[in-house]
Amino acid sequence: MTSSRPADPPTYAQQQLRAGTMAAGLRHFLQYIQREPAVGQALALIDLSELRGPLDEAGLQSLLHEAETERDRCAALAERDTRRTEAGLAHGAACTCGHSDTLHTRHLTEDHRLPCAHPDCLCHDLAFV
Ligand SMILES: [Zn+2]
Ligand SMILES: [Zn+2]
Repeated sequence: MTSSRPADPPTYAQQQLRAGTMAAGLRHFLQYIQREPAVGQALALIDLSELRGPLDEAGLQSLLHEAETERDRCAALAERDTRRTEAGLAHGAACTCGHSDTLHTRHLTEDHRLPCAHPDCLCHDLAFV
């Protein structure tokens, strides 16, 4: 019995097993989405290039969390840019609190505010003069 070091490349037998296991999983999954087209349509919306690791429930939860975080971040940045553009100002313009727009939070509050993220600043919402 030989113990293989981690640096050893997988043998063809190991690669065959791995590919065979994946093929079996994919075949099973394809049969499922042929019966349930809505599952296939939902899956087509997912960018799996963001997935690190297996496509299991934990992997999907992690993808969901990342997608929601990114959506919220972009919503906050879009709101920031809209307010600044409407005020006719350039990127990095100062809020009435004196801090740059980029120093304000990148997550809209539930009541649609962008508070200043600078410590000790009491600014509750990004606003331009
Ligand atoms: Zn502010
Ligand atoms: Zn501030």
